[in-house]
Amino acid sequence: MAILKIGIQKSGRLYEDSVQLLKECGIDLRNVKDRLKTESDNFPLEVFFLRDDDIPQYVEDGVADIGIVGENVLLEKNKQVETIEELGFGKCRLSIAIPRNQVYGGVASLEGKRIATSYPFIVKNYLKQHNVKADIHEISGSVEIAPGIGLSDVVADLVSSGSTLFMNGLKEVETMLKSQAVLIKNNKLSDEQLALLNKLLFRIRTVKKAKRNKYVLLNAPNDKLKEIISLLPGMKSPTVLPLAESGWSSVHSVLSEDEFWDKIEQLKEAGAQGILVIPIEKMVV
Ligand code: ATP
Ligand code: ZN
Repeated sequence: MAILKIGIQKSGRLYEDSVQLLKECGIDLRNVKDRLKTESDNFPLEVFFLRDDDIPQYVEDGVADIGIVGENVLLEKNKQVETIEELGFGKCRLSIAIPRNQVYGGVASLEGKRIATSYPFIVKNYLKQHNVKADIHEISGSVEIAPGIGLSDVVADLVSSGSTLFMNGLKEVETMLKSQAVLIKNNKLSDEQLALLNKLLFRIRTVKKAKRNKYVLLNAPNDKLKEIISLLPGMKSPTVLPLAESGWSSVHSVLSEDEFWDKIEQLKEAGAQGILVIPIEKMVV
């Protein structure tokens, strides 16, 4: 029987969300704490807990068949693997930051500067694209303190809120890359493994879709129904049920996150009342 081996981060920013995603896909994992690997009871999946930096290599070599890793690490490691799905978590950017009291003069002003980073490959390519020559200092952690201790003039580091940069007297001046966690795969999976991967991918997409959508219930006076229904997409079309009170109906539909707040406002203006919004656990379309 075929089995799929997945590499996920052992601990750190991607760990919780990776385990959570597998759980939401109905994959039971026991003993996930402090283990090197674990196997699911109800899906042919073996989970390896690894340092995120090692995941692209393991997947290229086929030690793991698939993996969850940040696009930032994937690009930096430059391995022969295939990206199959954006997972929507672990969002951050790889940015250039300079001391806050300095005026930024564009990418060209980085010429001759010392840049501290854990992403030398990406930074090198970025500078090359912009025809800038600078001195890249690779350090593996706490990059943000480098200018403060005189190790570099600027940094190229991961940013999410920017508070770490701020606390270290730096400001973000250039975004080199926007990143999120992605699912990657080895290039030579067997047909049986590909079938398992498709099964997993179907579940991942079902979970992702559910997260992006909300179930909406509202009450509508019958004379406003037409207008209210026109605002709602629904999966096919909204469900309309009569209320016990005559002249009123209950309308059920699904709204996506992107249009959610605008639609709610429009629905209220159109006469909708008692609007309830409910999270969706799974969504198969
Ligand atoms: P490991 O021990 O596995 O090597 P690490 O210290 O390299 O861990 P983490 O800090 O846990 O890594 O970050 C893992 C990934 O989470 C990053 O590579 C990136 O894709 C993502 N991430 C999201 N937000 C941030 C952020 N604000 N700072 C750093 N990484 C972030
Ligand atoms: Zn790492």
